[in-house]
Amino acid sequence: MDTLSPTTLLKALRQQAEQLGFQQMGVAPVVLDAAEAGLLDWLALGRHGEMEYMRRHGLKRSRPPLLVPGTASVISLSMDYLPGQALPMENLLQQGDKAAISRYALGRDYHKLIRQRLKKLCQWLEAQAPGIQTRLFTDSAPVLEKPLAVLAGLGWQGKHTNVISRQRGSWFFLAEIYTNLALPVNSTAEADHCGQCTRCMDACPTGAIVAPYELDARLCISYLTIEHFGPIPEPLRPAIGNRIYGCDDCQLVCPWNRFAQTSEEADFQPRHGLDRAGLLELWQWDEATFLKRTEGSPIRRIGHERWQRNLAVALGNAPHDPAIIRALQQRLPAASELVAEHIEWALRQQTGS
Ligand code: SF4
Repeated sequence: MDTLSPTTLLKALRQQAEQLGFQQMGVAPVVLDAAEAGLLDWLALGRHGEMEYMRRHGLKRSRPPLLVPGTASVISLSMDYLPGQALPMENLLQQGDKAAISRYALGRDYHKLIRQRLKKLCQWLEAQAPGIQTRLFTDSAPVLEKPLAVLAGLGWQGKHTNVISRQRGSWFFLAEIYTNLALPVNSTAEADHCGQCTRCMDACPTGAIVAPYELDARLCISYLTIEHFGPIPEPLRPAIGNRIYGCDDCQLVCPWNRFAQTSEEADFQPRHGLDRAGLLELWQWDEATFLKRTEGSPIRRIGHERWQRNLAVALGNAPHDPAIIRALQQRLPAASELVAEHIEWALRQQTGS
């Protein structure tokens, strides 16, 4: 087989990536000095909260060749995930007795699908350039996904810190392939197009975007409902509203998301009616039901106890309803210490005591 020139190979790789369902692809260099400085500052301020894995692995996160020796370039890819068949989030947020779940978590766990597609792309690349090495990642290792995507030309990091594309908005997953093949890297980084806009900062229910481009995870509802293990700080509970798994508010208000495309990938469509479920309906799930209904879903990782903790907060924030009070009281005797404390808080909210 004739060896393709790096430029021709890159063009063909892009076509393969598109055929496999990736909407964007670019190549980043392996030097991330500015991003490394930003990461170290963020960690020093403790803004990662309990996410100790952000600190672990030293500089492997910001220096790709330390994670995979010999890495010469990083292929960054994105896949849109906004489920075309889901009830709009804006509707759910207006109905306090419904459960609002982050758009990315309504269907099957995206890691599996993306990993399978990346594997096919790696196999194709290895067939074109025999002897090369590839390692694929999708939110699965210490990888600075967002800065790599920016360097690869996929977009810019908005004031909410997510990556935004002018053509596609920000509702996409990121994935990476590290390779020892020296591919032509992207030379034109996307400019910042946030301008004077501060919509995401103004809309964040808990004020987690503490300054433009600075997110304090300890205040972020996604962190509090997914990553955080212990009690949710009481002052933050009212602002959580009916968001029981993640929060999309900063993306919902971003004007660039008017260009977002919905995904028709079957795996990303809502399962078990999670895009329109009532809080009380989900509150009735015992652990066995939770495990069954969240099989293959990213929601499973928080476990039944934290699921109930999050639901108790949302039920406390829901419009006053005697049925909610009864349901909370019924669960109290058998609840764990963590859940019981949240139930008691919710009951105080519901009864005004
Ligand atoms: S809402 Fe406005 S400030 Fe925030 S990321 Fe989008 S464009 Fe930037």
